[in-house]
Amino acid sequence: MPTQSDVLLNRRDLDFLLFEWLKLDELLERPPFSEHSRETVAAVLDMCAEIASREFLPHYRRSDVEEPRLTEQGVWVVPEIGTALRAFADAGLSAAVFDASVGGLQLPEVVCSAAMSYFMAANIATTGYAMLTIANARLLTVFGQPAQVDTFAKPQIEGRFLGTMCLSEPQAGSSLADITTRAIFEQDDDLGRRFRLFGNKMWISGGDHELSENIVHLVLAKIPSADGQLVPGTKGVSTFIVPKYLPTGAGAFAERNDVVVGGLNHKMGYRGIVNCLLNLGEGEPYRPFGRPGAVGYLVGEPGQGLAIMFHMMNEARIGVGLGAAMLGYRGYRRALEYARQRAQGRPLGRGRTRAAEPQVPIIEHPDVKRMLLAQKAYVEGALALVLYCARLADHRRGDDSEQARAEANRLLDLLTPVAKAWPSEWGLAANDLAIQIYGGYGYARDYDVEQLYRDNRLNAIHEGTTGIQALDLLGRKILRDRGTALDTLRQRVSATAANADIDATLRPYASALLEAWIEIAAVVERLMAIDDESVALRNATPFLAAFGHAVVAWLWLDQAIVAASAFCAGARGGTLNERETDFYNGKLRACRFFFEAELPRIRPQLAFVGSNSDVAAAMPSGAF
Ligand SMILES: Cc1cc2nc3c(=O)[nH]c(=O)nc-3n(C[C@H](O)[C@H](O)[C@H](O)COP(=O)(O)OP(=O)(O)OC[C@H]3O[C@@H](n4cnc5c(N)ncnc54)[C@H](O)[C@@H]3O)c2cc1C
Repeated sequence: MPTQSDVLLNRRDLDFLLFEWLKLDELLERPPFSEHSRETVAAVLDMCAEIASREFLPHYRRSDVEEPRLTEQGVWVVPEIGTALRAFADAGLSAAVFDASVGGLQLPEVVCSAAMSYFMAANIATTGYAMLTIANARLLTVFGQPAQVDTFAKPQIEGRFLGTMCLSEPQAGSSLADITTRAIFEQDDDLGRRFRLFGNKMWISGGDHELSENIVHLVLAKIPSADGQLVPGTKGVSTFIVPKYLPTGAGAFAERNDVVVGGLNHKMGYRGIVNCLLNLGEGEPYRPFGRPGAVGYLVGEPGQGLAIMFHMMNEARIGVGLGAAMLGYRGYRRALEYARQRAQGRPLGRGRTRAAEPQVPIIEHPDVKRMLLAQKAYVEGALALVLYCARLADHRRGDDSEQARAEANRLLDLLTPVAKAWPSEWGLAANDLAIQIYGGYGYARDYDVEQLYRDNRLNAIHEGTTGIQALDLLGRKILRDRGTALDTLRQRVSATAANADIDATLRPYASALLEAWIEIAAVVERLMAIDDESVALRNATPFLAAFGHAVVAWLWLDQAIVAASAFCAGARGGTLNERETDFYNGKLRACRFFFEAELPRIRPQLAFVGSNSDVAAAMPSGAF
């Protein structure tokens, strides 16, 4: 019988990705991580599977049906969310990724991502509070002054405080240069440069609740110039710590800050995590230390706000990609379970002649197999992509050679928009197929698959929409970089293609992969020759779609090489049982599916981008 955690995530797959493919054992020999071993990693993952199944999964439906409410006592959320977050923190998971110097467990990023994958599959909304908190504390440990780290980051690492990121405003979502929240200097104190903030922050996840002792908001605001005007563009943007409760000495946080919920947003999915409009500095009903204005402490230097916040945003982008992958993953596992049980129809061509024969489970129908294989290829491909990025982050931190660290940094930078957008688009496509496999039952609210779809729909929107990720990939990461990072990536792709030589069945995929990357390079070259960036970027989103597929095809072939080698070695040594045979076979089939059914999609997309078509860009607004 499969356990609850088996339905969330195939542990055999996770072990394959971590140990066989990403060679986690080698990473665990490096100094920052050498306190850990394969055994301790296995124990952490077992614990996460258990806590996710016991504390996060059971209220998945309840927190969707009973949305957060604004009451006289504050924002109410289902109480199980608080219990789950306490269990998460008590297990030390809020501290997992941090250095020992700030009380962390110093686990590799790739292990932390694997650990989070259980929680995201079990309950993405409840996990959202923890994910934001970890990213918030990480930003502070990198850019905060020691007193700021002690006062605001450490309680988050211990799981006593929760954190948010407050970037968006009602009139400024994608365009953060246009925020209008103002920060007026007040005085220097023990926690750094103290300002008073005035403005409105929209869409703030985890923005208010009674789940923790305090909430640490990281807020983007502009410091006006001497004439009182806000500087246009991103240059004037700075980052501030704005806690819900202000420190009043001796470890107490007794003064309520001037940050107030203006209203809750009622969402399609992700409902367990409260999302609200926050008003800063209205002076009603709170006037901290006798004056209106939200008290905020500057982090880093004035004007560096976006660069600093990108630290959190990059981490959050990969976190969003992981969440999208895991929502798709759980949907796939549910659909698989259902397809094995649901009897309907008879094998093709035998419906009329053998009507008296028993019906077959729908997993026997080729079309259902196609839908399952597509989901497997999308979600396992998406998880591989995110874990690969997490492994790059570990290289960046723990590699001995500076050159290797720089290369990992370059690649991670290039792949971050892909790791955010590809799982968001294709994890959702997997959820769509899961609903289809359930048929009418999938459209009813009695099964998980419709909620998984609604939850996943957010991922292409928050942390920068797919369109914004596409501009980042093509504009900043490729064209402005003059293809340097792209060259590094292509070297890795070529190495994989060369390794595929070990197995004759993989060689055609290696050729197809190399061809795809030659086509991408040709398109990039054509776009680089265009002087006007607004022309070169006009079809950035189809470019991202093609690029993402080519990246995932590469990672599928890379996995298939490992699977084929293990399969051959096991077959030679007579050590492969039926389950292992099925597992490796599944990996090889999913790779084949990706190359036969998915990679060919990119050719027309690249032709369209390469032609620099103006069909959409030149469409007069009035002609719609
Ligand atoms: C549930 C939820 C949770 C969120 N949580 C947070 C949070 O915790 N903190 C926070 O700060 N924000 C949060 N957000 C805000 C989120 O990041 C923004 O919604 C997102 O960045 C898009 O901004 P917008 O909604 O204003 O859309 P707009 O910026 O108005 O975009 C609308 C459409 O126009 C397109 N578009 C906009 N500009 C361009 C351009 N230059 N080129 C091409 N296309 C463009 C977009 O791709 C999109 O399709 C959350 C949003 C939601 C819905």
